[in-house]
Amino acid sequence: MTRRSLYFAAAALAAFLLFGCASPDAIPAGVASGPSAVSDYLNVEDVVKDAENKAAEKSVASERTNISPADLEQLGETEPPPPPPPPPQPKTRKGDGPSSLPIFMYHQVRNDKAGDMIISRGKLEEELAYLQREGYYSISPAEWLDYCDGRIGLPKKCVMLTFDDGWKSQYQNAVPLLEKYGFRGVFYVYPDFVGGSAAMNWKQIKSLAKRGHTVGCHSMTHPKLTKNRGESDRAYAARLKEEIIEAKNTIEDKTGLKITDFCYPYGYYSEECFKLLDKADFETATTVNAGQNSKDCDPYLLSRYQVNQSTSLSTFASWLTEPCAEASLESPGDGGSARIQGTECRLTLSDEMLQAWRQGGEMTIRCNHEHPQFRLDGNTLVFQAPKNDAHVTCAIKIKARDGRTYRRSFFFTQGK
Ligand SMILES: [Zn+2]
Repeated sequence: MTRRSLYFAAAALAAFLLFGCASPDAIPAGVASGPSAVSDYLNVEDVVKDAENKAAEKSVASERTNISPADLEQLGETEPPPPPPPPPQPKTRKGDGPSSLPIFMYHQVRNDKAGDMIISRGKLEEELAYLQREGYYSISPAEWLDYCDGRIGLPKKCVMLTFDDGWKSQYQNAVPLLEKYGFRGVFYVYPDFVGGSAAMNWKQIKSLAKRGHTVGCHSMTHPKLTKNRGESDRAYAARLKEEIIEAKNTIEDKTGLKITDFCYPYGYYSEECFKLLDKADFETATTVNAGQNSKDCDPYLLSRYQVNQSTSLSTFASWLTEPCAEASLESPGDGGSARIQGTECRLTLSDEMLQAWRQGGEMTIRCNHEHPQFRLDGNTLVFQAPKNDAHVTCAIKIKARDGRTYRRSFFFTQGK
């Protein structure tokens, strides 16, 4: 049994205790796959990545002819130099560690291309140096679970550094920097991309694990893992099996590693995903929902902060110490819900969030890249659903006057 099934049993018990007497009608109709949540900005990744994949294929030849020998060495196929000895594992008493964990998400790390999701080596180094100066210790997903379950102690200041997609630039640029500062990363790869001109190859992926980093699974082909419009249950189940179970088997076969950590492409997930992750013995899965992770959070819904080139160091620093959000939509008892009624989105917020807003907090809503005009109907925010979009993603942020930030993300599918 994975830790997630234990979590689920505990959550179900809590839900029963809280809502045991509520009628099934209390569950709003039209909410797709229950507690799904996603931030909309990852659609940007779609665009950037598609463009990047195409550009990478096309531009390699021209890049090669236009680079100096020094650049060539930088871009070369050589392995990064041997790592310094791994940092000693600090010994701490049980319970001494962090009350919540910030996880950062990176994509490409390179100086020879621009784009907000491509961060420069200097920028990554600035952040790693900051983490080192502030005394942070980087942990793996397995360490986080061991700590949450009381099996190990951890230093008070912990962070997890994750790198998506398996870009070659991560191997060439991020890995040497991580090792220079004594940090370890988590690298989520997907077989369809491995070995491509802009991607790491299996040998490099294997060497990441040898050097103390974690290799995770990012599906087989990097699709959205929610059900497509018009897709039959059967086709969806078959697709998920390929993207979750076959992807894991492939990475394990190619590397000889045991893969237990998953990352949802674009941050899209569903209840069906959770079931398959559990079946395949995945222990953790990361989303793109921003926020800290509490010790009792669902290990299949780990939140992450996306670091872009435009993210300032002060924003980066503020994420490290951001208070852990109160109960999220995924936790029973939050009182939040989302549904589409006719052409309207209706998001019901918890009393706590509404109160923070009514007392002068600042609220922002993003819905499929827009900032819709909304009205309040009781404790429900109402606004027009985006037209012609099968998927609706809404992210709500309330910055209360006392400085606390509340975030909720909702994801659902329009149509029947
Ligand atoms: Zn990705």
